[in-house]
Amino acid sequence: MSSSHARPGPRSIELFERAQRTIPGGVNSPARAFNGVGGGAPAFIDRAKGAYIIDVDGNEYVDYVGSYGPMILGHADPQVIEAIQKQAAKGLSFGAPTGLEVELAELICDMVGSIESVRMVNSGTEAAMTALRLARGYTGRKKVIKFAGNYHGHVDALLVNAGSGPLTLGIPGSPGIPEAVVADTLVATYNDLDSVAEAFAAHGDDIACVMVEPVAGNMNCIPPVEGFLEGLRSLCDAHGTLLVFDEVMTGFRVHPGCAQALFGVTPDVTALGKIVGGGMPVGAVGASRQVMETLAPTGPVYQAGTLSGHPLGMAAGIATLSQLADGSVHRAIAPKLATLRKGLAEHATRHGVPFLTQAAGAMFGMFFTDQPRVERFDDVAACDIDGFSRFFHGMLDNGVYLAPAAFEAAFISRAHDDEAIERTLAAADKAFAAVAQA
Ligand SMILES: *Cc1c(COP(=O)(O)O)cnc(C)c1O
Repeated sequence: MSSSHARPGPRSIELFERAQRTIPGGVNSPARAFNGVGGGAPAFIDRAKGAYIIDVDGNEYVDYVGSYGPMILGHADPQVIEAIQKQAAKGLSFGAPTGLEVELAELICDMVGSIESVRMVNSGTEAAMTALRLARGYTGRKKVIKFAGNYHGHVDALLVNAGSGPLTLGIPGSPGIPEAVVADTLVATYNDLDSVAEAFAAHGDDIACVMVEPVAGNMNCIPPVEGFLEGLRSLCDAHGTLLVFDEVMTGFRVHPGCAQALFGVTPDVTALGKIVGGGMPVGAVGASRQVMETLAPTGPVYQAGTLSGHPLGMAAGIATLSQLADGSVHRAIAPKLATLRKGLAEHATRHGVPFLTQAAGAMFGMFFTDQPRVERFDDVAACDIDGFSRFFHGMLDNGVYLAPAAFEAAFISRAHDDEAIERTLAAADKAFAAVAQA
């Protein structure tokens, strides 16, 4: 299928052939493979600047992946790059505390209302894993409620793909995860409070935490319906259960104070990743001081990391968050995303392609559907996946890089200027034509 397309070019194809010999599937994270859009070689990237990434064949693309979220300032932001270079010259890692960790912790505590204390880790997966252990250790309970279609990294107990529908006992989402490990994972339906109430009714006071993406960003982009997050808060309060927001994607992207500020619902525990490291591998878990001091060395819940609080990650995180704190970046992005969504809708209509966008802050989703809204996993599953695939290749051929899967959110940055958006819409005109032709 990909051979009929102009891109990726010969150098990417050659690298992909080599990569498959020494790297499983040729990629270091399955999200980067093109399996979801007909297969073939992904573009191998050489460099990036602002709103653009450039592949090894010299093709330039307007980028809406943004490294799956971190790049809200645009690629190679001068302040971030300078902070990393300065820090690298002082040595890479010490296995002892630095002032940078204190500075980033203070920034996070200032910006995120529910966080008084924060522990740095090395990825979003680690942040979610630590949040779960912390909630279990703090409450002395075992069970966790998660939502079908929500992703919390590749943590064993949370990698449960039980599908939508009524609450079911989790089944392992991957070979290699013993059933015993997910026996205490309950799966509810996102944006369906009744499914959560049912889980509480059945398992009452045995539930340590409800873990939720406050805007679902791993089944395209689905904001919470009115009352959903508030309802989770009330159910958790009524049962002495901790509410965990996995804000690895939404954190600092939908609002400088994260989704909890945008929607005015305060979680007990927050998992962070992506933007918090400004493009370096950083995650974080934050909560009240009382909850956080359950962690070692103040408390009994063990958690550790040789490279945690890594100086380069801290430097990049500080340089990124300090530019987001006053809200000016989010205010600048909002009208650009509005223009983009309006333009996409107009082109789709003109070509007669059923199409919908949804957004929260600086993340958005594109759905090939005639549904007026997409609120639940089943709605996403009902969208036209082939239509997306044709759109994806049409965009790629015309210089726009989208995530190669219909279930990923898209990310816009401060660097997406008028020209980048015009280029995107010109490409979309052609890509929608290709969708309509099929
Ligand atoms: C990306 C993501 C993770 C996993 O983070 P990694 O850094 O890839 O381990 C966890 N939760 C959510 C909501 C995410 O979007």
